[in-house]
Amino acid sequence: ERRNSGETEFLQAVEEVATTILPYIAKNPKYKKARILERMCEPDRMISFRVAWEDDEGNVRVNRGYRVQCNNAIGPYKGGLRFHKSVTPSILKFLAFEQTFKNSLTGLPMGGGKGGADFNPQGKSDREVMHFCQAFMTELFRHIGPNTDVPAGDIGVGAREVSYMFGQYKRLKNEFVGVLTGKGLQFGGSEIRTEATGYGCVYMMQDMLNHHDMTLKDQIAIVSGSGNVAQYTCEKATQLGAKVVTMSDSSGYIYDKDGIDAEKLAFIMELKGVRRGRISEYADKYGVEFHAGKAPWSVKGDLAFPCATQNEITVEDAKTLIGNGIKAVCEGANMPTYKDGIDAFQHAGVLFAPSKAANAGGVAVSGLEMTQNSMRLSWDREELDARLRKIMTGIHDSCVKHGDGHPTTDQVDYVKGANIAGFIKVADAMLAYGVM
Ligand code: NDP
Repeated sequence: ERRNSGETEFLQAVEEVATTILPYIAKNPKYKKARILERMCEPDRMISFRVAWEDDEGNVRVNRGYRVQCNNAIGPYKGGLRFHKSVTPSILKFLAFEQTFKNSLTGLPMGGGKGGADFNPQGKSDREVMHFCQAFMTELFRHIGPNTDVPAGDIGVGAREVSYMFGQYKRLKNEFVGVLTGKGLQFGGSEIRTEATGYGCVYMMQDMLNHHDMTLKDQIAIVSGSGNVAQYTCEKATQLGAKVVTMSDSSGYIYDKDGIDAEKLAFIMELKGVRRGRISEYADKYGVEFHAGKAPWSVKGDLAFPCATQNEITVEDAKTLIGNGIKAVCEGANMPTYKDGIDAFQHAGVLFAPSKAANAGGVAVSGLEMTQNSMRLSWDREELDARLRKIMTGIHDSCVKHGDGHPTTDQVDYVKGANIAGFIKVADAMLAYGVM
C-alpha cells in the first residue's frame, strides 16, 4: 500500500484479485515463497513522457503520455491506449494489472500492458487529433515493437487514432509490422476486431445463462455507454433475441421501452462514431426518455451490461438492480462495479461475469490480428467469429473449473474462477524464470 499510496483504482483492482488469489496461494505455497503475487503487483516498468503538439490556432499544448508495461511472462506486453482527461498513473496501472490476467485467460501468448494520455479528444478537430497522435507516437515508438509491446485502442482511441499512430510508427521506423492492433483492414487489421469486445461480452452472457438453464431470448437488457463496446454488445444481444432498452454517455442515459433495434443502433453508431454527438439526440429523434446526468441502473431489466467506464455501479446501484430482479451482470467495461457491488450481486445469487473474463474478446481478436500479421495473411469474418466464439467458451469453462462454490450461494464464482485461471499460467511462467 505504501508504494502505491493514493492510487485508489489500482489498490481496488489488487484487492479484488487478492481476495480470491490469497486463499489459493495459501494452498499452493510455491507461489507464496516466490512472492509471485507481490511481483505481479509491481509493473516491469512505467514510462511517462511529454507530448507537445500544436492546436488549430497555433497554440502549443502539452499533455502527459504513459505506457505501463506490467508483465511479459507469457508474451509481449499487450493492452490498449486510453485518451481521456481522467487518465492517471493509478488508472493505467489498474488496467495493466487486470490486462495481465485477462490476456492469460484468452489462452493466447500475450503479456499485460496499458497506456494513454490525459488528452481530451472531445471538441478537437481531426487535424488536432492527428497532430496529437503523431506527437504521442514520436516518443512511444522507442518503447514498443511487434515482439516487445503491442498497444491497441481503448476509450478515446478508435480506428482513426490507431491509424494515425500506426502511420507515424511506420514512418519513424521504416518498418511495416504488426506493432498496433485495431488497424484498418487495408493495412493489416483483422475482421471482427471492431465488434469483438461487445460480441464476446454477449457470448459470455450466453454461456453463463446456458450453464444455468436460461437463454438470452426475450430478456430485457440494460446497457450503459454508447461507444465501441456498448454498440456491439447491443447489436449481438439484439441478434440473439434480447431487448436492449438503455444506452448512455457521460451526459446521461436514454430509455427506449420498445428496444434499440438494428435501425436505431445504426443511428447511434453514426451519432457517436462519426458525428461524435450526445446521446440525448436519440431521445429527440425517437421521442423517448432522456435522463440527464444519470446512469441507467434504476431501470427494471433481466440483464445488465455496464459498458462505459470504471466504477459506474456502486453498491446502492447494485441493490437497486437486485431489487428490480436482475438475473445476470456481464461487465463490458473494465472494473465498472465497485467491490461491494460485486459482493452484493454474488450474495443475492445474481450471475456475475467480471470484466477480465467478459470483455476479453477484444484482446483475443487482437491476438489473432497479431497472428495474421506474423503469417501475412487474413482470415475471413466467419473464421474469426468462430474463433472468438470458441475462445469465449474456453474462458467461461475456465471460470467454472476454478470458480465453483461461492461461500453463500454455492453458485459458480466467476470472479474467483477468472482470477485463479488467469493467475496460474502467468505465475508458473514466472516461477520457471527464477527470481527477477
Ligand atoms: P469508447 O470511447 O468507444 O466509449 C466509451 C463510452 O463510455 C462512451 O459512451 C462515453 O461517453 C462513456 N464514458 C466514458 N467515460 C465516462 C465517464 N467517466 N462517465 C460516464 N460515461 C463515460 O470506449 P470503449 O467502448 O472502447 O470502452 C468502454 C470500456 O470498455 C472501457 O472501460 C474500456 O477500457 C473497456 N474495454 C474496451 C475494449 C475495446 O475493445 N474497445 C476492450 C476491453 C475493454 P462520452 O461519449 O460522453 O465520452
